[in-house]
Amino acid sequence: MGARSVKPQVEVLQNFIGGAWVPSKTERVEDIPNPATGDLLARVPYSTVGDVEAAVAAAARAYPAWRDTPVVERARVMFRFRQVLEDHLEELALLVTQENGKTVEEARGEVRRGIEVVEFACGMPTLMMGNVVEDTARGIDSELIRVPLGVVVGICPFNFPAMIPLWMFPIALTAGNAFVLKPSERTPLSAVRFADLLTEAGLPAGVLNLVHGVKEAVDALLAHPAVKAVSFVGSAPVAQYIYQTAAAHGKRVQALAGAKNHLIVMPDADLERTVPAIISSAFGNAGERCLAGSVVVAVGDVADRFVPLLAAAAAKLRVGVGWDSATEMGPVIRPNHRRRILDFIERGTQEGAHLVCDGRAQVPRDETGFFVGATVFDHVRPEMTIAQEEIFGPVLGVIRVATLDEALQVVNRSRYGNMACIFTASGKAAREFRVRVEAGMLGINIGVAAPIAFFPFTGWKGSFYGDLHATGKDAVEFYTEKKVVTSRWF
Ligand code: NAD
Repeated sequence: MGARSVKPQVEVLQNFIGGAWVPSKTERVEDIPNPATGDLLARVPYSTVGDVEAAVAAAARAYPAWRDTPVVERARVMFRFRQVLEDHLEELALLVTQENGKTVEEARGEVRRGIEVVEFACGMPTLMMGNVVEDTARGIDSELIRVPLGVVVGICPFNFPAMIPLWMFPIALTAGNAFVLKPSERTPLSAVRFADLLTEAGLPAGVLNLVHGVKEAVDALLAHPAVKAVSFVGSAPVAQYIYQTAAAHGKRVQALAGAKNHLIVMPDADLERTVPAIISSAFGNAGERCLAGSVVVAVGDVADRFVPLLAAAAAKLRVGVGWDSATEMGPVIRPNHRRRILDFIERGTQEGAHLVCDGRAQVPRDETGFFVGATVFDHVRPEMTIAQEEIFGPVLGVIRVATLDEALQVVNRSRYGNMACIFTASGKAAREFRVRVEAGMLGINIGVAAPIAFFPFTGWKGSFYGDLHATGKDAVEFYTEKKVVTSRWF
């Protein structure tokens, strides 16, 4: 993967600034391999402070005219963008598969979830409405108006290269902001495509800009005086850094972070439906998902019946290249990430958990990609590393407890609080779970409790830094500022 192995014809990506593709001024360029084969897809520049300044300046220049464009016209751009995305859905799904590794079916699902945010943003004329109260005092009226912020920024992770940028810029743009997108340096190709597709949909030049890069580019965005708000999605340590640094520079911030999601299985759960739901939660997207089920908390005697079914289903998952329709699980993102996951598996066995499905044995022998098979541990204890750390790979642990009360204690001790799920036939147990669990996205007989676009993505605790979440009305609130006008006419 080093620079020397690069074929000269492999494209070096460019930044999208003021409506044109321009080369970065950096000397530092990294390879982007296809995780399923190791083949080079492109190379990504690690943009400089100067590149970022040019992108923010272009956004700041485009902003006044875009803000003054009537909201219905801004929404029409999104209506057209929605159609353009539909027309390119297969192409985009294949691109996601190539750069990220997930199966084409998963990639289609990802693009679909992203399109739903665009559909939500099309409702901006209604979503942005303010309020008026007549005669707040005699002859005096008060009105609340929602206005865009100015230049806002989105910094994205590798695991949903299409969906996560789409969580951000459609809502921000339709609300009247100008945008600078910093996609993941590991999966920037879908975002690159969006820039051209937005132009096709009629977005004026400079309203959306894209800069590649990592720390230097991100730090320049966080400190830039013209940037008003920062949306971030990524790992917990970086989220914390982004939240603190951007806030220190006076920005509004939402930073969505890592996760360790628990799935409680009650003795009365319908195992025929629960097992596939948990398999999909833990091993969909090769476990590289912030809503991946990572720990099953099995209550009472259910584990003896449930674990053999789970292990058998995990062992059957077909690992392979994402564009093969028979593949059920693709590779993970990079060799070093694969190594890290294998180290966690080793650590789990050393700490005394029972390996009931060993994904290390499932890796396809004839492939050069970064594969790890589905792995299941039984008899995990809450203090073990594999029960506490986000692995972000296809590794699932089962903790056995006696009661729902004990299960809730295990879940609530986690420093993360993104998602928690319960599988049960009992309304009473489900209600107790809903009331007492300390996590923001809850699933009841659902393994991936992903809120649909018109709801916010409500991580709690160490899974989120900020006040207003991504998507839904929270996002409209995040990307707008309020004015309250009090008036009297003589
Ligand atoms: P990451 O933190 O490595 O990278 C995210 C972004 O931050 C990238 O754009 C990257 O270029 C930038 N970045 C990385 N290091 C930086 C630094 N030191 N300073 C400034 N910027 C830096 O995350 P990732 O590995 O791409 O994504 C996986 C993580 O994202 C997982 O932890 C996952 O749980 C999390 N995630 C969370 C959600 C959520 O909604 N809570 C959704 C998706 C992913």
